Amino acid sequence: MRLDVLTLFPEMFAGYLGGSLLKRAIERGLVEVRLYNIRDWATDKHKTVDDRPFGGGPGMVLKVDTVVPCVEEVRRQGADPGHLVMLTPQGRRLDQAVVEQLAARERIVLLCGRYEGFDERIRLLLEPDEISIGDFVLNGGEVAAMAIIDAVIRLVPDVLGDAQSSQVDSFSGGQPRLEFAQYTRPRVYRELEVPPVLLGGNHEEIACWRQQNSKRRTRLRRADLL
Ligand code: SAM
Repeated sequence: MRLDVLTLFPEMFAGYLGGSLLKRAIERGLVEVRLYNIRDWATDKHKTVDDRPFGGGPGMVLKVDTVVPCVEEVRRQGADPGHLVMLTPQGRRLDQAVVEQLAARERIVLLCGRYEGFDERIRLLLEPDEISIGDFVLNGGEVAAMAIIDAVIRLVPDVLGDAQSSQVDSFSGGQPRLEFAQYTRPRVYRELEVPPVLLGGNHEEIACWRQQNSKRRTRLRRADLL
């Protein structure tokens, strides 16, 4: 899978790309991430990417004549123009079903906003899939893009050591539920004991306990999923 990130702050991704699961996926050639600085498409000598909003008001707006050529040129790089995602609090809400749709793509182009956001004509011309990671406002789309990348790569074949783990995760599978409670050593900590069934080695009993536990947690915490 190829992920192209268009941002004014590519340096924000350095630590994230260099760590853990994603680093290994990149090294193994399972995932490719390319970073582009939108500012490189600015045409004036000051490299201006934003301007004051028509009609007045606070903040600055990302310029259509910088962002559109940037997106178009990046999408032309490669046989598949990719699925264009615009990060915006006004988009459809990210959830595991949306993550699954995105993970089915060969290439995703992630467009990160800043300041007061995008000139409306950017949406009209590019017709992106507008995605929000929740009903709150971030300073920029970079953290939202990282959240999408993080969730999507878990579903790319062979990225996880054990493919089963993404199938039992919360919100996954045909009947989305919360995952059952997990325990590891020590068996007892501050008088809290691991449920004995998990120590008995009977796989049928363990599967049954986990199913019940998962159902109960979902009913108590997220009845809307049932
Ligand atoms: N003025 C905009 C509004 O009220 O809709 C918010 C602009 S926000 C300060 C700057 C950028 O951060 C946005 O263009 C978007 O790329 C990103 N952003 C902020 N909140 C987000 C969210 N919940 N999900 C995805 N992206 C978000």
